[in-house]
Amino acid sequence: MKMAMYEFLIKRVFTPAVDFHRGASTMKRLEELEKTQWWPREKLLALQDERLRKLIRYAYDNVPYYRRVFEQRVLKPDDIVTSGELVKLPILTRQLVRSNFSDLVARRFPRKELMPSLTGGSTGEPLRFYKTRDDYHGWDTAAGLRAHKWAGYEVGEKLALFWGRHPHLSIADSLTRTTKHFVQKVELFDAMMMSDKRMPRFAKRLEGFNGGFIKGYPSAIYLMARYIEKEGKSAIKPRAIITTGEELYDFQEELFSRVFGCETYSYYSTNEVDAIACECSEHSGYHISAENVIVEIVDDADNLVPLGGEGRILVTSLHNYGMPFIRYEIGDIGASSDKVCTCGRGLPVLAAVNGRISDFIYTRRGDCIPGIALNRSFLAGLGVEQFQIVQESYDKVVIKLVFGGECERDHVSEAIKKIERHFRSELGGDIDVVVELVDQIVPTRIGKRRMFISNVKKVLP
Ligand SMILES: [Zn+2]
Repeated sequence: MKMAMYEFLIKRVFTPAVDFHRGASTMKRLEELEKTQWWPREKLLALQDERLRKLIRYAYDNVPYYRRVFEQRVLKPDDIVTSGELVKLPILTRQLVRSNFSDLVARRFPRKELMPSLTGGSTGEPLRFYKTRDDYHGWDTAAGLRAHKWAGYEVGEKLALFWGRHPHLSIADSLTRTTKHFVQKVELFDAMMMSDKRMPRFAKRLEGFNGGFIKGYPSAIYLMARYIEKEGKSAIKPRAIITTGEELYDFQEELFSRVFGCETYSYYSTNEVDAIACECSEHSGYHISAENVIVEIVDDADNLVPLGGEGRILVTSLHNYGMPFIRYEIGDIGASSDKVCTCGRGLPVLAAVNGRISDFIYTRRGDCIPGIALNRSFLAGLGVEQFQIVQESYDKVVIKLVFGGECERDHVSEAIKKIERHFRSELGGDIDVVVELVDQIVPTRIGKRRMFISNVKKVLP
C-alpha cells in the first residue's frame, strides 16, 4: 500500500509523541469516536445526555455564572437531564461571555490546563475565552480528524491549506505549527496573497498535490479554481476538497467539481467549538459530532424550531470544563433534521448551515483578499466588541468599530491608531484605512452582521 510506512509512522509514532508532549490523547479519542459514530442514534443521544448531566452538575458546583443562573431560575442540576431540557437555561451570547468572563471560568480548574483563545468571530464580534487542553488537543482535534477521514483523508497525506496567516501566534506556537505541518505534509497557500500575479506560482505548487487534498476557505479555493479553469490547466486532481470557515455556495462547489474532478466536503468548525459538524460522502447534510457537542436551533423568540426548521444555531460544548459554554450563540443560521443518513452513521444531522457570509477586499495592485483571511483576532484584546470592514473603493476601506462601554477615551484613541496601522500594513499600504466609531453594526435582514462588505466588485454571479 502506497505511503503505508509513512502513515504508520505519523499515526503510531509522531502523533502519539506530540500527544504525550501535550498531555493530550488525540489518537485514543479518535479511536473511540470512530466506534461511536456507528452507534444507533438513540444510544448516541443517551451518551450525549449522560455527558450533558455531568457537565451541568459540574457547572452548577464550580462555575459562579451558572450557579447564579440556576438560582435565579430556581433550578437544580436534576432539572436538566436531557438535551431537550436545556431550554430552561438562557442563551449565552458573546456579550454575556464578555461581561461575565471571570465568573464563567471554573473555580479550582488547574490554570495550566486552560488555553487562552481568541476568535475574530464570523459575525464581526471578537471574543476572548478559554479552552482546555483535553478539549482542544483531545476531543476537538480527534473529531476534526474523524470528519476529514469521511473525505478520505488520513493524517500524513498531502494537504494544500488555503488559509490566512497567524501573526498573533507566539514564536513557540508558530514553530510547533510549522513542524507539525512539515511532518504531516500540510503546505500553506496564503489566502491573503491571491492575486493574478501570484496565481501561476500557486497553480504550479498545487500540481504537487495530485492525489492529495485541498482544504481551506471556499472563497480562496474558488479564486484558485477560477484561475486554473481560465488557464486550462486541468492536470491538478486532488482526491477531495474540504471547505471550512465560510458557507460553501453551490456555484463554488460546481466549479470545484468541474476543475478538480472531485467531491467537496463542507466542514463546520469554529474557534469557540471545533468540529461541530461535517458532510459525509452522502452529502445529504452535516453529521453533528454528537459525542462532543449539542446543537440546538432556535427561532426569533428563542424557542426551539420544529425539526426541519431554520433558525439560529446554539452549541453546548460537552468537554470544556475550564470555561463551559452552554447554549452558546455562535452567530450562524442552520436547519435541523431528523434524517437518518444512508451512510449508516447514527450521528444526528444538520440539514444546512448558512450565514457565514464573507466578502473579498480588492486592491489596486490586483490582490483579491478573502475578508475572512485578515487577521482580526487582536481586536478583542483592544476592547472592540463589534466591527465591520467596508471597502468603499479601491483606495478606501472603512473600519467600523464598537468599543465596550468601559473603555476610556485615551485607550480608544490609542487603540484606533493601532488598528489603522495594522490594517494599512495588512492591506498593503496603498489603501486608505479610515476608522469610524459607531454605536452599533446594523444587522442584515436575517440578523447577521456582515463582517466584510465590498462595494467595489463582486465575484458572486
Ligand atoms: Zn452520512
